[in-house]
Amino acid sequence: MLAAAKANNISEYSITEHASQFREPRESIRFGSIHPNGRIFRSLKEYNDEFRKADQLAYPGMKINRGLEVDFSPRFEKKVGEFVNQEAWDILLCSVHEFEDGKDIEKIVRGIVDPASAHEHWREYLRLERMALESDFVPFKVLSHPVRITRASKIAPPELDELLLDLARVARRRNKALELNGRDIDYAPELVRRLAIACSKAGCRVSLGSDAHHPREVFRNVKTAMALVKEFDLESG
Ligand SMILES: [Zn+2]
Repeated sequence: MLAAAKANNISEYSITEHASQFREPRESIRFGSIHPNGRIFRSLKEYNDEFRKADQLAYPGMKINRGLEVDFSPRFEKKVGEFVNQEAWDILLCSVHEFEDGKDIEKIVRGIVDPASAHEHWREYLRLERMALESDFVPFKVLSHPVRITRASKIAPPELDELLLDLARVARRRNKALELNGRDIDYAPELVRRLAIACSKAGCRVSLGSDAHHPREVFRNVKTAMALVKEFDLESG
C-alpha cells in the first residue's frame, strides 16, 4: 500500500484499519457489518508494530498517519469508544455500516424494490449519520463514505438533497469533514457530486479518501474528487 502511495507521489498517507478487525472488539461486540476475511489484529500493539516497521521501510518525504475507521452505532458506541480511546491517533474516520438494530445496511437494503421502504431506509441511514456527527464517542475528524447506502439501493427519497444539506450543516457545526469517497465515486458519481454541492452550500469541509483495501486501489478516484473540490470551491483537509 505504501509503495502504491509512493508511486502516486502522495506526501501524506493515512492507514485506517477497521476497528472491527481487532480481536477484542470483534469478539465482544457483534458488529452488524464486518469484513468476512482479512487480517485480525490481536491487539493495538500488534497494529502499532506494523507502523514501526513501515517507518523503518523509510519512504522519504512521505508522512504515514496511524488511524482507524470506527463504526458508529448507538448500541455499541460506548464500548467501541473505550477500545479506541486507549490511544491517541493521527486520524480517526467514523462510518455507519449498520442500522440501529444491528443489521448490515448493505445486506438489508439490497433487493428492496418498494420505493416507500427504500426511502425509509435511506432516511434512517442519514439520521444515524447525523447522530454519529453529534457523538463524541471518539475524536474523529471525518465521516467516511456518507452515501454508501447507495451501493445497496439507488432508490433515494425525493428530499435527498435537503437531507444531504442537513448532514453537511451538522458536520459544519461539529467541525467534521464529510468524505468524498473513492469507492462511492465508482458506483455513484452523481450522488457524490450532490454531496459535494451540499458541502459547498453548508460550508463544511470535505476529505478525499480512496477507501483502498488493495494496493491497486490507492488514490482511486482522488483526481475526480479533487475536480469536485475545485468546481465547488470546497475546503479539503
Ligand atoms: Zn467503511
